[in-house]
Parts: sequence; structure tokens; C-alpha cells
Amino acid sequence: MTMRIAIAGGGLGGLTLARILHRHDIPAVVYEREASRSARSQGGMLDLHPESGQRALAEAGLADRFRSQARPEGEEHRILDPAGRTLVHHVPRPGSFSGRPEIDRRALRDLLLDSLPGEAVAWRHRLVAAQPRPGGGFTLRFDGGHSAGCDVLVGADGARSVVRSLLTDAALYPVATRAELSIGDVDRRHPELAELVGPGNLWCVGASRILSAQRLGDGGIRVGISLPADDRHLDTLRSKRALLDVFDGWEPRLTALIEAGDDPPTPHRVEAMPAGARWTHRPGVTLLGDAAHLMPPVGEGANQAMLDAAELAAALAADPADPGSAIRAYEEAMFARIHPIAEMSARVQAMMLSPTAADDIVRFFTKGSTGS
Ligand SMILES: Cc1cc2nc3c(=O)[nH]c(=O)nc-3n(C[C@H](O)[C@H](O)[C@H](O)COP(=O)(O)OP(=O)(O)OC[C@H]3O[C@@H](n4cnc5c(N)ncnc54)[C@H](O)[C@@H]3O)c2cc1C
Repeated sequence: MTMRIAIAGGGLGGLTLARILHRHDIPAVVYEREASRSARSQGGMLDLHPESGQRALAEAGLADRFRSQARPEGEEHRILDPAGRTLVHHVPRPGSFSGRPEIDRRALRDLLLDSLPGEAVAWRHRLVAAQPRPGGGFTLRFDGGHSAGCDVLVGADGARSVVRSLLTDAALYPVATRAELSIGDVDRRHPELAELVGPGNLWCVGASRILSAQRLGDGGIRVGISLPADDRHLDTLRSKRALLDVFDGWEPRLTALIEAGDDPPTPHRVEAMPAGARWTHRPGVTLLGDAAHLMPPVGEGANQAMLDAAELAAALAADPADPGSAIRAYEEAMFARIHPIAEMSARVQAMMLSPTAADDIVRFFTKGSTGS
């Protein structure tokens, strides 16, 4: 009998898993809480690394489609200080795919969704509980009262995973406070900001503060504000005026990015799991991506989620008769791969929001590089 695989969460990790399983003729259903692919903005750009995100897309048979959608010019990045002086300016070779080309998250998610049969994703299915069945597998209960059964449950349900509680009680810790703003149609409405940001990423780095901006493929700019987690209460950051106060004294050319925001900011806490978090194997269930190893956001999370998916799919495809052994092998390899990456992410995050961030970042960028 074919095993029934349920994937909770249709983000980049869950969809990559479903796609690679589909290529191996292993059916899986993705249960996604959102109502449709366009229910929510998917955020800014991601750079996909050759050894993780791009490798997973190759195993998904989507490398060519990725190249047609990617924006290698988005790799251009600049780091400025609060006075607007350029500290670092990296310009990629024109048209080069040798590095870490950027792609809009929406385009990447659409690419994965388009590669799956329509019935592979069950929209409007928010998992609220998974109960073990006496003979193995789980009964899944969804918001609104539906239920479904599965033999193998994969939690790809992100930072606040419901499936995680079946395996670990690891608590999340606060990493930073972040607020975001969007600016649409910048070439026409704010050409000076289009020029300031360029085709890729801009980071303006001060003492324990970052004002960042990212050019998107839809003609807009996504602006991010990052502060240490204990710097301000979220409720004090719900207006553009409040954000401008945080960057008081900064060059007005830079803070114009805040003033130009189309809507009030949406502040939130960024959280992470402790580096090295792991769990004891339990038959029939596992985690991938942020559900497994939520890390400070320094450019690895989506890449590692996609690589988790590729490795789990390969393990299940190699041994479809024994999913328990496949999951155990996947978990051991994933824990070993993620631990140093999670430690590095925590170090880089602390550096980026330190009082001496500008000096530290320049030193970091001149000897290595992180993602966006
Ligand atoms: C500000 C910021 C910038 C970042 N930049 C980068 C970057 O440049 N590069 C990079 O590699 N990573 C980056 N990351 C990290 C990256 O976004 C995540 O690691 C990645 O999205 C994780 O993918 P995932 O599939 O595990 O989870 P998600 O993308 O969070 O997907 C989870 C999915 O599960 C669904 N879901 C949640 N709960 C349920 C439920 N109960 N039932 C059903 N469905 C559910 C959600 O709706 C969602 O679709 C960044 C993160 C942040 C916060």
C-alpha cells in the first residue's frame, strides 16, 4: 500500500518537498492555512545559494525556470553609514549566475506551485492538532472541523509550527525587533529612492540599528528596520513618525525611505530556536525548515529549508518501504548540517545589531559574505 504523506505548510520548504516527491511518483498532500497563493504578500527577495537552495531546485527539475525568473543583478549591494557614506559596494558581473542570484519570494513560490498538480495543495487547511493513531500515523485536525489521516506527517509549518510540539518543547528566544514598509512604483513616484537602493540591497548601518531596503521585481521597494529585541516595545513602532524618531540624526536622504512608505509599519519580533536544538526520533513524523531550526534571518533559512526538503525527499524515495529509517537518516544529517549554520547565524545577527556594527560589518564583508 502507498504511504500517505501529509505536509503541513506550503511555504518554500513544504512545496519543494512535495515537488521532489512528485517527481519520484510519491504522492503527498500539502495542507496550507492560507486561502490561496495570493492571500498574503510573500515578502522581499531571497538569494539562493548554489549548495543549498539552487541544489534543491535542480533536484526539483526547476533549475531552468529559476534562471528565467532570477535577478542576478539583485546581488548588487551597498552598505552605508548613518551619514550616507558608502562603506561597501558590491557589483556582480553582469548576467552572472555563478554566485547567489536573487529571486522574488513570490516568483519562487509560484514556480513551485505551478510545478505541482492542482490537488497537491489543500488551501484553507490550518492544522490545529495531530493525534497519533493506535496503528501508526496521525489524524490531522484542521480549523473549521475537517480532519484527515496520514502515515507520515512532515511539519513544514514555519516559525510557530504546530507539528513541532510532537517532537520537542524547545522554546523560541527573541532575536530582534523588525518593522517593514512597502513603497510601490518607485521609478515613477520616487526616482531618487530607486537610485539610492539600486537593483539589489541597501543596508544603512548605525549603532544597534539597521535601515535596509530591497528592490523587488514588481517595481517596488521593501524597507526593513531592525533593532535589538529589547530596544523598544512593539506598540511604540506602529507609525512612520515613531520609526523616524528611532533614526533621529540620520541623513535625510536615507530616512526618506521611511517617509515614502505606502502604509503604516507592521512591527514584529523576530525569534529563533537555540542553536543545536534537536529531538529524539519518533516514528511517522518529522520537521523541516523553520519548524525544525528557526534561525536568526541572515540569509540561510529559506536555503536550508529547501535543502532539508531535497534531502528528506531523496531519503524517502530511496527507501519507500521503510519511511522510519529514511526519516531517521534525514534527521541525523540535518542536525549535523544545521548546527554550525545556526551558530554562525546567531553570531552574524548579534554583530549586525551591535553598537560597533558598521566597523564589524565592513570587516565581515571584506573577508566573506552573507545573504540578504
Ligand atoms: C526579515 C527576514 C528576512 C529573511 N531573509 C532571508 C534570506 O535572504 N535568505 C534566506 O534563505 N532566508 C531568509 N529568511 C528566512 C526564511 O524566510 C525562512 O527561513 C523560510 O521562509 C522558511 O521556509 P519554511 O518553508 O520552513 O517556512 P515558511 O516560509 O514560514 O512557510 C510555512 C508555511 O506554513 C504555513 N502554515 C503555518 N502554520 C500552519 C498551520 N498550522 N497549518 C497549515 N499551514 C501552516 C504558512 O502559511 C506558510 O505558508 C528571512 C526571514 C526573515 C524574517
